[in-house]
Amino acid sequence: MEKLSDPQFLRGAQFVCSAHVEREWPQDQGSEVAFAGRSNVGKSSAINAITGHTRLARTSKTPGRTQQIVFFEVDSVRRLVDLPGYGYAKVPAHVQRHWEKLVQRYLEGRTSLRGLILPIDIRRGPGDLDLVLFKWCELNKLPIHVLFTKCDKLSRGAASTALIQFNREIDSECVTTQLFSAHRKVGVEAAINKVLDLLRN
Ligand code: GDP
Repeated sequence: MEKLSDPQFLRGAQFVCSAHVEREWPQDQGSEVAFAGRSNVGKSSAINAITGHTRLARTSKTPGRTQQIVFFEVDSVRRLVDLPGYGYAKVPAHVQRHWEKLVQRYLEGRTSLRGLILPIDIRRGPGDLDLVLFKWCELNKLPIHVLFTKCDKLSRGAASTALIQFNREIDSECVTTQLFSAHRKVGVEAAINKVLDLLRN
């Protein structure tokens, strides 16, 4: 079976490195899908659910993690990337600036980047930096797939209403959306298929 048609393919993801600076990034070849998002939205839980691991992406509340980009290899030419979370209440301004520069350099310079997965807490909706990412992706024609996380916290009706409303407001060709819950395993298969689709390009 072709690897990218196999829903189990992402289970092969393995930690490569946690990079503070660009020279530590793996070679920019093949294809890469990056996970961005506000801290605490459930990004690490989503990466773990999608790869079928329990602790591949480490959930961490320490602002120090805002300075690292973590690379996972699925095979020799395909990677998943955990971008540092944003929006920590307590980070000093210089750390915030470092985050912006690091992520900007990654987004603008990485030719193997095929798309972003953006978890957004369904109860909170998008924040300012999420909106910046939407604009940037639109401008650069980069696909962005939104996981509305923690949808188990809302009734099914309320969750789909939130999704419909968001889709109406964003209305962009670059953006696709779905409901997601790592805890209840809602939307995991759809998210896996999306990642595989992006890695295929
Ligand atoms: P990150 O900071 O974005 O990587 O978020 P984490 O994955 O560490 O999750 C942050 C918090 O949200 C943790 O307490 C998780 O247990 C919780 N969480 C993550 N996913 C879900 C989910 O699907 N449902 C619920 N109810 N809580 C979740």
